[in-house]
Amino acid sequence: MSDAAVLIVGAGIAGATLAVLLADAGVPVTLIDHRPSPPAPTSGQPLDARVSAIHAAAVGLYERLGVWSRLPAGRQAPFGRIEVWDAGSAGRIGFDSAQVGQPWLGRIVENRSLLAALHGRLREMSAAGVLAPATLADWRVDERGLTAGLGDGRELTAQLLVAADGAASPLRERAGLACVHDDFGQSALVCHVATEHAHADTARQRFLPTGPLAFLPLADGRCSIVWSTNPGEAQRLAQLPEEAFARELAGAFDHRLGAVTAVDERRVIPLRGLEAERYLGPRLALLGDAAHVVHPLAGLGANLGIGDAAALAHQLVRAHRSGRDLGWVETLRPYERGRRSENLPVVQAIRGLQRLFRADNAPLRALRGFGLLAVDRIGPLKRLLTAAACGLTDPALRA
Ligand SMILES: Cc1cc2nc3c(=O)[nH]c(=O)nc-3n(C[C@H](O)[C@H](O)[C@H](O)COP(=O)(O)OP(=O)(O)OC[C@H]3O[C@@H](n4cnc5c(N)ncnc54)[C@H](O)[C@@H]3O)c2cc1C
Repeated sequence: MSDAAVLIVGAGIAGATLAVLLADAGVPVTLIDHRPSPPAPTSGQPLDARVSAIHAAAVGLYERLGVWSRLPAGRQAPFGRIEVWDAGSAGRIGFDSAQVGQPWLGRIVENRSLLAALHGRLREMSAAGVLAPATLADWRVDERGLTAGLGDGRELTAQLLVAADGAASPLRERAGLACVHDDFGQSALVCHVATEHAHADTARQRFLPTGPLAFLPLADGRCSIVWSTNPGEAQRLAQLPEEAFARELAGAFDHRLGAVTAVDERRVIPLRGLEAERYLGPRLALLGDAAHVVHPLAGLGANLGIGDAAALAHQLVRAHRSGRDLGWVETLRPYERGRRSENLPVVQAIRGLQRLFRADNAPLRALRGFGLLAVDRIGPLKRLLTAAACGLTDPALRA
C-alpha cells in the first residue's frame, strides 16, 4: 500500500464517513481498525439490535456520496414525526417534518448495514485504502509529517493522524488530550419489539423519572427500543422472562402502542458522556465519539460525528487542493473552532435535559410540563427545533 495524506484510526461511522469524503475528493487516505471490515448482512439475517436515527441532512450527504443506495430496503426506514412526553407532568411536544417542508425528519438504520455500505463504497475508491484488522502501535511526528508503526511491524507515513477510535480513544489518551467525563449513572437496554398498534413512522420517547424510554420505528413494522435507566434496573429488565418484560415495557410506555407482543434479544450498554477540551494535538485531530459522547436521548451522537467528518473533510480537501500541509495547525484550527462551538451547546443541552427530566421535585416537574407545552405552541421556536432534528442547522452538513 502506498502512503496516504491522512491516516484514520477507527472505522466506525465517523472514521469511515471521513474516509469516503476524502477519497471522493481525491485525497489519499488510509483507514485502519483493529476489527475486520463489517460484511454486508445477508438477506433474511435478523436485524441487529444496534440501530441509529440518522437525520435528513446526514442521509442527504450519504446520498450524494453514493453510500445510501447501497443499503438494503428492509434495513432502514423513514420517520416523519417525533412525539415526546413526560411521565411526571402534563408536558408533551411533537415535531412533524411538514413543519420544515421535508418528507421525513430522518431514517432509522441498522448500524452494521450503514458501516457495510460505507466500506463497500470505500472498496470502489482508488484514493482509499483499508487495513482491517490492523493496529497502530505508535507514531512520531516531525515538521514534515508523521510516521506510524503498525502492530505487524509495517510503517506508514502521512501528514495527519485522525483519532476516530471511539469513546475510550486510545489515541486521545496517548496524546494526553484532556476530557471532561460525565457519568450518567445509567445503562441503556436495547432490543426490537413488536407492538399491538402500528408505529406510523413516528419516533416516540417518554421521560420516566429513571430515564427516557424511546420507541424507534423499523422498516418491518416493529420498533427498536432504547430504555435508559439505572444500571441495576437495566440488568433486572434484561433478565426478566419475555412475557413479564413485555408487560413492564408496555406499562412504562403508557400503552401508547398497546401491548408489546414479541421481544427480540435484549442487550445492555453502559452510558457515559465526555467532551474533549481540545480536538487537536500535534498532527492529530479527534473525530466523533473520540471527541464527544452524548446521552442517546436525543439520538445525536453519530450525527455529530458525521458533521465532524464533513467539517474536517472540508478543511483538508481545500488544503490538499492548494498544496498546503494537512497536518499544519493553521489548516486544522477552523475545524476545532467550528466543531467545538457547534458540538458544545448540543452536549450541554442534552446534559441539561437529562438532569431536568430526572429531577423529581414538584416545582421542576411543573416547569417541565409548562416548558414543553409552551415550546410546542411557539411556532418559530418549534420550526427551529424541527430543523435541528433534521440536521438542517448543522453548517457542516448544508449541501
Ligand atoms: C444505545 C445507544 C443508542 C444510540 N442511538 C443513536 C441514534 O439514534 N442516533 C445517533 O446519531 N447516535 C446514536 N448513538 C450514538 C452513536 O452510536 C455513536 O455516537 C457512534 O456510533 C460513534 O461513532 P464513532 O465512529 O465515533 O465511534 P465508534 O462507533 O465507537 O467506532 C470506533 C471504531 O474504532 C475502532 N477502534 C477502537 N480502538 C481502536 C484501536 N486501538 N485501533 C484500531 N481501531 C480501534 C473500533 O473497532 C470502532 O470500529 C447511540 C448510542 C447508544 C449507546
